[in-house]
Amino acid sequence: MKITLLIVLLLALSPFPTPCVVVAETPPNIVLIFCDDLGYGDLGCYGSTKNRTPHIDQLASDGMKFTDFYSSSPVCTPSRASLMTGCYPRRVGMHEDFTGHWVLIPRSRRGLNPEEVTVAEALKSKGYSTACVGKWHLGDQPEHLPTQHGFDHYYGIPYSNDMQSARRGDPPLPLVKQNSVIEAPADQATLTKRYTRQVISFIEDNKAKPFFVYLPHTFPHLPLFASTDFRGKSANGRYGDSVEEIDWSTGQILACLDRLRLTENTLVIFTSDNGSNGRNGGSNQPLSGAKGSTMEGGMRVPMIARWPGRIAAGSKCSDLATMMDILPTFCSLAGASLPSMKLDGFDISGLLFGNKDSRSQYKALYYYRRRQLQAIRNGNWKYHLPLEMTHPNWTSAEQTGAGRVGKLVNLKNDLKERTDVADANPDVLQRMEELQKAAVATLGNDHIQGSEQRAARTLDSSKPMTLTK
Ligand code: MG
Repeated sequence: MKITLLIVLLLALSPFPTPCVVVAETPPNIVLIFCDDLGYGDLGCYGSTKNRTPHIDQLASDGMKFTDFYSSSPVCTPSRASLMTGCYPRRVGMHEDFTGHWVLIPRSRRGLNPEEVTVAEALKSKGYSTACVGKWHLGDQPEHLPTQHGFDHYYGIPYSNDMQSARRGDPPLPLVKQNSVIEAPADQATLTKRYTRQVISFIEDNKAKPFFVYLPHTFPHLPLFASTDFRGKSANGRYGDSVEEIDWSTGQILACLDRLRLTENTLVIFTSDNGSNGRNGGSNQPLSGAKGSTMEGGMRVPMIARWPGRIAAGSKCSDLATMMDILPTFCSLAGASLPSMKLDGFDISGLLFGNKDSRSQYKALYYYRRRQLQAIRNGNWKYHLPLEMTHPNWTSAEQTGAGRVGKLVNLKNDLKERTDVADANPDVLQRMEELQKAAVATLGNDHIQGSEQRAARTLDSSKPMTLTK
């Protein structure tokens, strides 16, 4: 690293005897900006002509843009479980709620198992200060909040911003600080602004040691809100307003890093938890499908990484990478040990640094939706499995769509996944069937338990998160 080299050089040139010390590399600060339901085609640097995102576009110009970066799931909770643990959601038991609902609902008794090592805990082991500012969605009970999973600071909403169903008995949407509700219902129009302020003050307070900021934005998940500075200002309705406020927020955080002279030693990542729902102004272009589906548009997301001097400006990576790679990669950069349990992600620092011999290490990417394995990617081939109606609560609408019939496509020339080329490629089909067997045996499928699955934690009882008087 530059700083290390400089220190070594100064020591070598010093007229004084060189002290016998080992100069440790300075681990980078890490800022991980994580949108909710932002689609592949929603940023200017990914082709949007509707949303103005100059700060995020500049981030891409100054860093690396990934074309084939994936969530591990097309919905919020499982995707975040992967981000935190480096594992497929089924491996850590977070692929659905214990009720069968496909994300955790308010008062869920389920949460991330404390035996899992989160990315925040791994970084804390190397002296990082850690903050989670935004939507958590990995359990709203006191035992399951971010403060129990390696985050020193937490400020945000514990689950999705549409989860206020009086019929279901949901409490008013809580805004939580550490473990307590400080506002209910949360004033959603000012959330992005307040998150930004929280992040900036955390960085200011922790600039002297390495820090990890995880900023899981509330938007552009529905219902859409923006502050008065942004409401009605975009050319793309409320969706564009909320995206443009996130762009502003990103600019504020980058300016803070500049002001504190932290830019050179800070890795900034910008990505999304899953694809856009494809309505209300969101776009997954040029991909097919949307949030909730295992078509590319449901799970392939924007991903930008900037670290001046380490990641080449204006670079592009088309290797397959996923949010399961975040934990192993951050561990590698921070010099932290990897958790001892089995992980599914890989260290992609070689890809980030443009090492010529670095390649994606994925033999296969498994697309799970709820409890079902629905597709497999191997190289540029993607195999949509023939699915069965196996869950009593599923409607036929959930089982329809282009990817539901069992077919083989080649993403290299068929990003829309339209043309079945199975008949012409029996060898690929056979390979896919072998990968399918391996996934089902270890990670499971539907009601089949895999040999390498670990349980989430499910409490005996739960309470709504409400304001304490
Ligand atoms: Mg989401």
